[in-house]
Amino acid sequence: MPLTVKPRRPRASRIAVTLLSGLLPVILGSAILYMQAGRTLEQSTRLTAEEAIRQFELMLDNTAQAARELLPLAGQSCIDVNLALREQVTRRPFVRSTNLVWDDVNYCSSLFGDFHEKIDAGDYSDGKLALMKGNLVTPNSAVLVYRISEGKKGALSTLDGYHLSNVLRMIGHSTVLRLQVGSNWLSADGQFHQEALPALPVAQTRLDSTRYAFSVTAGFPEGETWRYMSSEYPPLFSLLIFFGVVSGCIGHFLQKRSTSPSHELQRAMEAAEFVPYFQPVVHGDSKKWSGAEVLMRWNHPKEGLVRPDLFIPFAEHSGLIVPMTRSLMQQTAQLLGPVSASFNEPFHIGINITASHCKDLKLVEDCRQFIGAFVPGTINLVLELTERQLIEPTPVTLQLFEQLHELGVMIAIDDFGTGHSSLGYLRQFNVDFLKIDQSFVAMIGADALSRHILDSIIELSAKLDLGIVAEGVETTEQSDYLSAHGVNFLQGYLFGRPMPGADFLSALSHR
Ligand code: C2E
Ligand code: CA
Ligand code: CA
Repeated sequence: MPLTVKPRRPRASRIAVTLLSGLLPVILGSAILYMQAGRTLEQSTRLTAEEAIRQFELMLDNTAQAARELLPLAGQSCIDVNLALREQVTRRPFVRSTNLVWDDVNYCSSLFGDFHEKIDAGDYSDGKLALMKGNLVTPNSAVLVYRISEGKKGALSTLDGYHLSNVLRMIGHSTVLRLQVGSNWLSADGQFHQEALPALPVAQTRLDSTRYAFSVTAGFPEGETWRYMSSEYPPLFSLLIFFGVVSGCIGHFLQKRSTSPSHELQRAMEAAEFVPYFQPVVHGDSKKWSGAEVLMRWNHPKEGLVRPDLFIPFAEHSGLIVPMTRSLMQQTAQLLGPVSASFNEPFHIGINITASHCKDLKLVEDCRQFIGAFVPGTINLVLELTERQLIEPTPVTLQLFEQLHELGVMIAIDDFGTGHSSLGYLRQFNVDFLKIDQSFVAMIGADALSRHILDSIIELSAKLDLGIVAEGVETTEQSDYLSAHGVNFLQGYLFGRPMPGADFLSALSHR
């Protein structure tokens, strides 16, 4: 089926489909980019956290080494070991102070010498590490204390919070990094915190050191994924928008195509796919070929030869039937015009027209050109107007039929008996022929009532002095009956099927 009857969707729905087909690739693409950006950020926070852990472990190695070296001195008098304590502070990078412990009392400090402070091992994670707000000298600068003990002996070494926050800042860049020991944590601005660690909304990663009792949390603030996308993906976004526009255009085009049979008909007309077929019309008594009805066929490139009832309704609806008929008439004139000198008596050429042809007077010019292609007096042009689609008697239509008659064009009512034309109508349009519909011809040989209807139509046309053409004559019984009842012309498979122009010409030349 070359054309399908799909009701045209409402405008709003067409716009929605176009927008959707344009937006879908953009939305899907953005979602994929969003996930990709999320993965990249997660990878980045993991790497940053790993790097921070490495740096902190390196610092703690130095700090722990200082404590380990001092441990054997624990228990000795503070005056004797003070130099050794200070030496560790001076020699070891990152170490800020050192202390010696005896029986859980910090009794000697590199800063103050003799000292007395109770130590609670429970304050230290794993008994070894504590993050503190500050010490006596710098109460507001955080320190990380490393503790080592052996029996009553103990040593403490502290790592300056400044170095820690420096690492958090330098490695973190745009990543938010936090160092956590037990329930205390340090932020990159060097602030010491005791409250619960707030979650980071984007790509949060927490890594524990395998060697010391601390962990590092890395992540990004709200909105970082979009910020990352807008700074890293502009070329990809441009590509997405390009795909969106292309896909929107395709969506729009496909809708237009699928909802517009007239588009396909227009294409077919430009490709000259509509061609005339000719079915002979014979004399009622002599059965000689006295004319032909021109029937349109669509030579479709994929579907093959298409029957007219499958596309004529669309052509009528779109108004394309007018140029299509014009082309059909031109092709017919080109084919038959050159042989018209050989016609012994006027040859009837039936052309089907529709109500769309009667809206203006253009048909008159088309007919004039058609007749002009023949040797004068060799043809009778008969326009067939179906009874199912009768036209209104408006000033334009009345003028049209008047001018057509002046030109010598005849009018036939096609499919007569299937519609509702009144006697007044037949007179008003000066009808010349009635074409009895094939359904009545098929009644011949059936019951008496059906035959009675057919007889009435024949009688009526005789009374109105109209010529009669009987369509769909398939059997000799029908042919004999119609001839016996004075039907002037017969048309049907019995005498010839509709055939291409070349076949028709050759058949005609043999008669
Ligand atoms: P129609 O004008 O009544 O044409 C007669 C139809 O009956 C043709 O069908 C013809 O092939 C068919 N026919 C002829 N003899 C017999 C027969 O013995 N038995 C049977 N069963 N059928 C027979 P077709 O060519 O398929 O055309 C169908 C309809 O399409 C036409 O009916 C006409 O209404 C329309 N049509 C065809 N060509 C044109 C055209 O150029 N313009 C317009 N407006 N309509 C056309
Ligand atoms: Ca017809
Ligand atoms: Ca008919």
